[in-house]
Amino acid sequence: VRVAWAGGEQRLSVGGPPELLLEGDDLSAFVPIALLLAMRRREPLEIDGPVSERLLATLPETQEILSAWTPTLHRVPVRARALAPALPPAPLRASCFSRGVDATYSATRPRPPGEEVTQLVYCEGFDPSYTPASRDARIAAARAAAERIGLPLAVATTNMPELIDHVVDFEDAYGAALAMAGLALGGGIGVLGIPSSRGYGGLLPAGSHPLLDPRWSTERTAIEHDTPVERIDKVQWLVDNRPDLIDGLHVCYEIDSAENCGRCLKCLNTALLLEIAGGLHRSSSLGPELDLEAVERNVRFTSVLGRLAINVNSARLDPGPRHDELRAVLQTVLRESNATPDHPSPHGILRHQNRLLTASLEGRLHPPTAEGPHFPEATVGPLADPASAARDERPAPRRRWLALPRRRGR
Ligand SMILES: [Zn+2]
Repeated sequence: VRVAWAGGEQRLSVGGPPELLLEGDDLSAFVPIALLLAMRRREPLEIDGPVSERLLATLPETQEILSAWTPTLHRVPVRARALAPALPPAPLRASCFSRGVDATYSATRPRPPGEEVTQLVYCEGFDPSYTPASRDARIAAARAAAERIGLPLAVATTNMPELIDHVVDFEDAYGAALAMAGLALGGGIGVLGIPSSRGYGGLLPAGSHPLLDPRWSTERTAIEHDTPVERIDKVQWLVDNRPDLIDGLHVCYEIDSAENCGRCLKCLNTALLLEIAGGLHRSSSLGPELDLEAVERNVRFTSVLGRLAINVNSARLDPGPRHDELRAVLQTVLRESNATPDHPSPHGILRHQNRLLTASLEGRLHPPTAEGPHFPEATVGPLADPASAARDERPAPRRRWLALPRRRGR
């Protein structure tokens, strides 16, 4: 589709296996990302095509949530050309599968009868950390892991990172982006689970959140935020129940590769969790032993959430002497993390929340970061079009598009 805004336009695409793609001209899949762009640019969202009624109806409150989480996302009016026909739920129950700890846990954890995952979805091109250079190796590794788990793997593709670059933080958009993949694959997918990256105890506002993800659902495809249990508990479950999958975990964003570098914050932190859970020797890239010196020197969590996780994880250390040294290292990591300055970027839900919490805990007033909302409330409604009668006589355009037109009254 074409996405246009005041002063520019770009195409947004999402692809996948033809047998899973939703047929027809329903534009619902593009709404989550387009909404974030419109809220960030503070322009009305006008959708020149049909949109799910269920999705459309949730957008006012979705905007209330997002605009309450960060002053850089503003409430905007949403107008859609038409309501899409409400299709019955599609048959497959899918889970996003990146090969990380959360995804591997969500793909394998026990579920009640009738709620088992029947499809894995690997989202290629969604994460700006990786380039096409490592694409084939990453997809091959995801296929191998899916085969070991015993589930079919579909590969979804997109150019979404180009579109949001320097406008919306990737961390704020990734839930919406994964929802886009799920809705686009609505030919087959009736439920898409987005694996939670936090436990119930650490559910601060974020781009993927139990309050947010289900709001991207349509009648055809429900989006779920899957299992917010602590990551240390997911690692422990995998070590105890699926040790065969530990070596295939891919958690590294530091190198453009299908492998883990073994040295970055994410690699060291995962190695730490595997060590606590007693399964580090099973990972060839992260193990066999924890480099305590590297953890002490390099692991710094500048976010309040990261520091919270250190305390959650330290509570799971072996109370005996086995983890005495590690306990001391975690104390150093926490103290040094507290002394490390926060990321200076003014945007992003997590960073805003982090600064707000830090200022509050340190007894400082947090300075206002934006003026009040341009639009007093978020509304949805039909797209006004005085030329619609004339347009209806012309043949339907081959390409549907979303338009975020120039703001009026400025
Ligand atoms: Zn790494």
